[in-house]
Amino acid sequence: MTEQEKGHETEDERRWRFVWRDDEYIIEEPSEEEGKLVAPMLASEGPERHWTQALLDYLSPRQAEMVRALGELVEHESPSLDKGLLDALAAALCARLEAVGAEAHRLANPGGGDHVQAVVRPADPAAAATPPALVLCHFDTVWPAGTLREKPFQVEDGRARGPGVFDMKAGLVLLLFALAAIRDLRLALPRPVVALCTSDEEIGSPTSRALIEAAAGAAAYALVLESPLAGGVLKTARKGVGHFVLEVHGRAAHAGLEPEKGISAVTELAHQVLRLQELSDPSRGTTVNVGVVRGGSRANVVAARAEAEIDVRVTTLAEAEWVARIIRGLEPRLSGARLEVRGGLNRPPMERTEAVAALFQRAQSIGRSLGLELAEGSAGGASDGNFTAALGLPTLDGLGALGDGAHADHEHVLVDSLPSRAALLAALLLRL
Ligand SMILES: [Zn+2]
Repeated sequence: MTEQEKGHETEDERRWRFVWRDDEYIIEEPSEEEGKLVAPMLASEGPERHWTQALLDYLSPRQAEMVRALGELVEHESPSLDKGLLDALAAALCARLEAVGAEAHRLANPGGGDHVQAVVRPADPAAAATPPALVLCHFDTVWPAGTLREKPFQVEDGRARGPGVFDMKAGLVLLLFALAAIRDLRLALPRPVVALCTSDEEIGSPTSRALIEAAAGAAAYALVLESPLAGGVLKTARKGVGHFVLEVHGRAAHAGLEPEKGISAVTELAHQVLRLQELSDPSRGTTVNVGVVRGGSRANVVAARAEAEIDVRVTTLAEAEWVARIIRGLEPRLSGARLEVRGGLNRPPMERTEAVAALFQRAQSIGRSLGLELAEGSAGGASDGNFTAALGLPTLDGLGALGDGAHADHEHVLVDSLPSRAALLAALLLRL
């Protein structure tokens, strides 16, 4: 039995200290003068396996506690447009973040739910002056209030279900437990951690984008606790997303008596829809989808107005600009018809730059020290990581818990992934 295993038998696990001394880890009980027992230890001291094992030994026995925290966060419903519910969850999150040693503040947001910022500062002044790690989470979900009545939080066959469990309340749990592990094990952070937990990611981050971009400007790198691809695969590229509305103005006329005096906005829109669909190019990863059309007033009236809503996804900024230029420059086919285009790119693409690839490789080797084999992939959906990556900040996304079904009925989290993914997050914060 190792020292660490013996340690599990003590009554109060939280009071353990893993101390690197004379070439090995030893475990000490804190003295009366708690806090003075051991100097903060840099994760870079000592063999990798010791401190990573300490993280796993700390987090694995806490799986049930993590599931309980996940349930409490899920049971706190938080649709993106409900300020009352979001503010209440922001307050609860602040309290939880403070309980694990972070300085947490609510950022008042008259335009939506309050956001939360949490900071953990290293004790070492040189480390405290280093550019921080930025951790991005959101606590809004796509599920309307009341969803819990039909889909209560439950755990069955190792799967936790409930609205927003995978996207991304599990990510919040990982943050809380990773910070708890770092604090309780007295592992010294090499730089500050700034965590932004935002309330409007699911609606395109209208009020948090500026905060995220400001934080990104000061940070060394960003970790995004969004759900991973199948099997826990990290996201090192995400498509950019644009949303456009094409409004067509024609002229109304009686469809039976004098149709020649009308200009059909519906016919014009039909031409434009076909033109728009042609912009899709699977070989370049570009999709243009006219998802909604509406127009006309009655069957016996030549339609005076019609409009389409268009979703655009692109893998590079250059492609985004090309598609946007074409959509904004659409010309009417019917003489007398007029087109009006609103909207644009909402989230720029997260491109897999060399800096992103290098960050992933470092994460991969840190993952190996925890016994995790990390893989990377790209996602068609966007996240707040798109904003940080577009500013040139090395960004790793998809660091959330394993599971499936974001925004879908089968949304779930594999609960046995919670400890190892929290350990991964802690290890990244300690080593990157
Ligand atoms: Zn999400």
